[in-house]
Amino acid sequence: MSELVKQYLENEKQINTLYNELHEFMKVKETEIHSVKWNEYEPKIRAVMEERDKKIEAIRDQQISKESETRRAISELNIVRDQVNRILLFLQLRARSESFTIEDSEIHAYDGRHIEILGYIFDDQFLKIKLFIIENSKPKNKYSLIAFGKCLFPESLLKVDRDYGIDTHEDNYCSLRVLIRDMPTISDLRAYLDRNKSTILAMLVQNYQQVKEDYLDIIEKYRVEDFIDLIGCRCECGFFYTKEEARNYTRRSGFMGEHQEPVKCPLCKKVMVLQSSIPQVAINQ
Ligand SMILES: [Zn+2]
Repeated sequence: MSELVKQYLENEKQINTLYNELHEFMKVKETEIHSVKWNEYEPKIRAVMEERDKKIEAIRDQQISKESETRRAISELNIVRDQVNRILLFLQLRARSESFTIEDSEIHAYDGRHIEILGYIFDDQFLKIKLFIIENSKPKNKYSLIAFGKCLFPESLLKVDRDYGIDTHEDNYCSLRVLIRDMPTISDLRAYLDRNKSTILAMLVQNYQQVKEDYLDIIEKYRVEDFIDLIGCRCECGFFYTKEEARNYTRRSGFMGEHQEPVKCPLCKKVMVLQSSIPQVAINQ
């Protein structure tokens, strides 16, 4: 064997030994790392994290209880404010309480579809409801029994939602628009109506009666003068804006918005009289 070959083989042996030693060394060190990570430090880290989470949780609890405490206090304070706002709303409505009607010709079906007028089902001082049967675009239940209503009181007070998915339009806005029933024929709907006349819209009418009672009671007991410090501007027709409302309707002019421009009454279009200066809305708000 030549010296060169001998050296070659010898070196190979040494290289293998070095590799094997390195491999063993790495294995030992991996075990060491594993132990440092999972036995030595992981329990400590977990303990610290638990401690941290507990502290944060305690602070969150403080936030939650402060928030609910504040909300309770605010809703307590709002009881009187809500009462006064309701009174003010009713006093405003009084200025609007001229009589109104729902004309048969005000209601239109789309695309010249059939429309049948059934007349008033409810006709009271502050609430009118008229029933109509209107041809719809459904394949089977082709006709809809629909109530159109006008009421002095807003829908929110009557707890009724306006039905938007009805193919009609009105010349004058009806705040109440209720789809009562869809059926295949007009006579089905007429028969349905005969059977259910007293229960149809009963909830709505009942809510109305309560609101009306409350309204009559309030406009009997209170005058706008009782709330003058809350009034922004008044019209001679009786309508007024509260300071808060007036802020939204008041235009200001001048370089710094120092001139308050007169507000026009939405009912009779006369210039309303300012009761006191109305706080200016912050710029960029
Ligand atoms: Zn007016």
